[in-house]
Amino acid sequence: MILAGYATGASNGVIFIRHGHDGPIERAKAAVRDAYKLGLLGKNILGSSFSFNAEVSLVGESYVAGEETALMEAVEGKRSMPRFRPPFPAAYGVWGKPSNINNIKTLSYVPEIIAKGAAVFSGVGTERSKGTAILCLTGAILRPGMLEVPMGMTLRQALEGLAGGVPGGKKIKLLQTGGPLGGVLGPEQLDTPLDFDAMARAGAILGSGGIIVADDSVCAVDLTREIMAFCQFESCGKCFPCRTGMTHMVEILERICRFQGTAGDLQLMERVGITMAAGSLCGHGQLGYNPVRSALRFFADEFKAHIEKRCPAGVCTGEYVVPSRTRR
Ligand code: SF4
Repeated sequence: MILAGYATGASNGVIFIRHGHDGPIERAKAAVRDAYKLGLLGKNILGSSFSFNAEVSLVGESYVAGEETALMEAVEGKRSMPRFRPPFPAAYGVWGKPSNINNIKTLSYVPEIIAKGAAVFSGVGTERSKGTAILCLTGAILRPGMLEVPMGMTLRQALEGLAGGVPGGKKIKLLQTGGPLGGVLGPEQLDTPLDFDAMARAGAILGSGGIIVADDSVCAVDLTREIMAFCQFESCGKCFPCRTGMTHMVEILERICRFQGTAGDLQLMERVGITMAAGSLCGHGQLGYNPVRSALRFFADEFKAHIEKRCPAGVCTGEYVVPSRTRR
């Protein structure tokens, strides 16, 4: 971040971390303290004319605070709701100053690229997706956690090879990739390389590398309902296509899981999704239909079975189940 500040002529840096991530918060605070002690932060860094200050800023639980303009609102101590754009952060950012916003992962590559040259970095990965991907694996996987792999490695190599596959000899039924708004992939897509273009072609996104692995015991419709309930819970409420669209989508999915859905409900969700994409202010609402669209693409038969009052995985019983995100 100091190098980014030097390159852009900035005077202040903010490391933004979600409250509750105690390990990263303590490490970031210690790194800032150490940098000041070593003369790498503050006035006239290493005797140069460049001065730069840095601080760690925390935000409460908010998924949408990861959106760059909502993030700036949070840093300024306001409710983390996205801003209208333009103006863009490069012109009017934190405290109204021009701001450059990057993921810590991106910034972490910079010192090595400067020290060893761009060729070393671009020597890893694929033609259009360079470097490494950091995967965050959860769900039905033997070795969950963070995994850094070269771009271009296939999902199968990472999940079945490095992470040990599904415990108990079960099979992967689906992957939820790129976070809740990313998309669902079926087992046929396991040989997809981990690069941005290949993942997009397969119908999902790599995003920041989050992957939830589900085995045969999971119902694709129920999982979609849980994901949409999370998205609805996290909608900041600023614009109504997202606020009411998410709620409407969850209601429809709950109906389908209770075996009260109709074939028309699938078209209704699509219409709601198109409206959300067209009328929402930020990516949260614009991509809000993604989980349903991709689940329908790979698991249309399961949706159809629920409309015929059957759950092939034996998860949905026709009873109402409160989604886990709203139980908190
Ligand atoms: S799209 Fe959703 S999360 Fe984004 S600003 Fe609108 S209401 Fe908030």
